[in-house]
Amino acid sequence: MKSDRSTTPAVTGPFTLSPLPFAHTALAPIISARTLRFHHGKHHKGYVDKLNTLVLQRGIQDVSLVELIHSTQGQPGDRDVFNNAAQTWNHDFYWQSLTPPMGKSAQPKHGGELARLIDDSFGGIQALKTELVKAATAQFGSGWVWLVRDGTRLKVMKTSNAEVPFTAGHTPLLTVDVWEHAYYLDYQNQREQHVTAVVDQLLNWSFAAENLMRLQDFARTPASQPA
Ligand code: FE
Repeated sequence: MKSDRSTTPAVTGPFTLSPLPFAHTALAPIISARTLRFHHGKHHKGYVDKLNTLVLQRGIQDVSLVELIHSTQGQPGDRDVFNNAAQTWNHDFYWQSLTPPMGKSAQPKHGGELARLIDDSFGGIQALKTELVKAATAQFGSGWVWLVRDGTRLKVMKTSNAEVPFTAGHTPLLTVDVWEHAYYLDYQNQREQHVTAVVDQLLNWSFAAENLMRLQDFARTPASQPA
């Protein structure tokens, strides 16, 4: 699907803002074009720009986004680098976790490995969706809700602010952004209403299935690399 790059000018520095994998209008009315323009063109871009400023100031070179997240996680002096690197990665992953409603990726493939693991781990897709919404609603303040692979099982987890699941050994399959900037223009304070609609209609189950089948972990297969 055509991507609109009008809000994604080139930035100075090693990291680049990935284009949206769909048009700004593709997720409406669940997520409006206005929200996508702000979220991708202002918030996501802001993290990338700030990260580039920080790595240039500190002379950080030849490191992938995921390596940078691993090396700065939990380091008090590197908190700003971690936050902006992780938010850059999280948003790259979030856009790929979404797909236009009614598309071929909007349901788990019947009979596939992902569907089998969902049944084994949650008892079915509806129970998984309920758990994702429950976790999103329970997250206090800003953060992310994730479907992850944890060994041979799947589970739902939430992280605060910029935290990512893979530094704790969990392989992310899908995520939903529950920062207010993800929904406030369309839903104001109704996070549950927004997340319910996203989980019901916009999750990209093909992307989840691809992540499930990755042989490498995310430390070696970053979503974004330096240009
Ligand atoms: Fe966001």
